[in-house]
Amino acid sequence: MPDSVKYLVQIPYSQSIFSYFWGKFKNPIQMRQQIVAGNWKMNKTFAEADQLLYDLAIALEKEPTEKVKVIVCPPMPYLEMATDVGLENKFEIGAQNCAAFDNGAYTGEVSAEILASFEVKYCIVGHSERRKYFKETSQDLSQKVNKLLEHKVQPIFCCGEQLEERDNNTHFDVVKAQIEEALFHLTEQQIQEVVIAYEPVWAIGTGKTASNEQAQEMHAFIREQLAAKYGKAVADNISLLYGGSCNPKNAKGLFAQKDIDGGLIGGASLKADDFTKIIHSF
Ligand code: PEP
Repeated sequence: MPDSVKYLVQIPYSQSIFSYFWGKFKNPIQMRQQIVAGNWKMNKTFAEADQLLYDLAIALEKEPTEKVKVIVCPPMPYLEMATDVGLENKFEIGAQNCAAFDNGAYTGEVSAEILASFEVKYCIVGHSERRKYFKETSQDLSQKVNKLLEHKVQPIFCCGEQLEERDNNTHFDVVKAQIEEALFHLTEQQIQEVVIAYEPVWAIGTGKTASNEQAQEMHAFIREQLAAKYGKAVADNISLLYGGSCNPKNAKGLFAQKDIDGGLIGGASLKADDFTKIIHSF
């Protein structure tokens, strides 16, 4: 039996069942909340993933966090193992991608309905690596967002500019277009179920982080766009995350910014210790 699943045996049975049903009763509309989400990308063997989940569960048990929602987004084959470990609501589970279609003849794809069927609560959509390597367009992304919302899986929608676009001073236009094209068809209720992650492409996996001021400026801009379309109350209820070389050293400064509600973490989510330090940076 994987270690991470053995860990579950330590949880009193009645407590697990209670947490499960309590989770079901929770309001499906998110309130703006502090979130730290780990994007493992295409990393970790089964045994390594098992170990990381176990380490994370133990770290969160030692130092629990009530105020921060922790989300772990492992590769697809580990989602079920991760949902088992996250069951006690220590952390939620997200996928890194989903199909833009309903179930059917799409070999190799995983639908929003399949994700929802085993308690996957979140799904990253529009990561810059998927836009770049898999040529995902805003139209694809808007369809994925629709499918996820249909099945009550919350999209973590990524947006962000390339370095040239920042250098040309077109970064605000680029981000505005990404959001408008993929999200602005949603209703007021639906948009509040979306988490938006601003991830400047030049900061992803490069060790170059946006400064606190650059990150806050763009987050405030995104919130303004949401307010212009949906009104201030709705915009204020949406969680905006920063992503791009966020680590235990810079997380505190970033998370202290007025419009930054947390982070989408790549590299630093692969070590339980670093990820836990980031979670406790608020
Ligand atoms: C990411 O890929 O979403 C990300 C933010 O990566 P990193 O933290 O490694 O820059």
